[in-house]
Amino acid sequence: MNAARTFKPEEYYVEQEPYYEAIGNEVELFEAAYRNQLPVLLKGPTGCGKTRFIEYMAWRLKRPLITVSCHDDLTASDLVGRFLIHGGNTVWVDGALARAVRHGAICYLDEIVEARKDTTVVIHPLADDRRVLPMDKLGELLLCPPEFCLAISYNPGYQSVLKELKQSTRQRFVALEFDYPSAEVERKILITETGINSAMADKLVKFAQMTRNLKGNGLDEGASTRLLVHCATLIVAGIAPLVACRSAITQTLTDDPEMLKAVGELSSALF
Ligand code: ADP
Repeated sequence: MNAARTFKPEEYYVEQEPYYEAIGNEVELFEAAYRNQLPVLLKGPTGCGKTRFIEYMAWRLKRPLITVSCHDDLTASDLVGRFLIHGGNTVWVDGALARAVRHGAICYLDEIVEARKDTTVVIHPLADDRRVLPMDKLGELLLCPPEFCLAISYNPGYQSVLKELKQSTRQRFVALEFDYPSAEVERKILITETGINSAMADKLVKFAQMTRNLKGNGLDEGASTRLLVHCATLIVAGIAPLVACRSAITQTLTDDPEMLKAVGELSSALF
């Protein structure tokens, strides 16, 4: 049996419309890039809606979505494929990227800078006008069907040379910039995602904005929309707002005792 055939692309379709609140013209831009077979780079801080957006676009464009969370042990073989011993036979098993190309899927490489450079280079021939995936070990050159789309995400906020995306990689992509939504949109997201009341949603958004102002002044990142959703979920589940803020937001942002105290005071002033 060829293990590659056990892959079922139908399982990778997004069946239900994901809730996504547009923050700008990203839907229109992504669609234009997709129709013209341009690869897309989603840039922005963690927890600001990049993954939700790509799920929404996969649903909208009716394409399977294959997501790879990148890490430093990710190899080119994980993306392209490898020979495996299966039931006494040697069989070829496609990697995530090869599967996406064969099935005209959207391949989303999340946090691309976490992957090593020798892994990242395999996307280069896919991300320019060649649109091919060389499978050297198999001796095949996969041509991308028009439906295939390569999308990667990247958080420029880490500001470390080691976590920089190389120019030779980034200059192949159309970049869509993501950031935390406006207060009004973020409030709407919290209410829709968790059912929290609007007065409490307003306070949470204010609290998040205060922590975002501390970025670079003791905090590496401010509270993301994701953290606010977690906090609102706890509050709706009956946890006291101050306790929820401490667990879902303050403690996740820092371990530094002084910053914990400072952020704790901000939440006490609001809740
Ligand atoms: P990222 O991929 O940027 O790290 P996610 O897409 O996982 O972030 O977003 C985290 C959570 O925040 C989502 O699960 C969702 O609840 C909420 N969220 C953030 N932005 C939006 C948005 N624009 N519309 C709807 N939900 C959002």
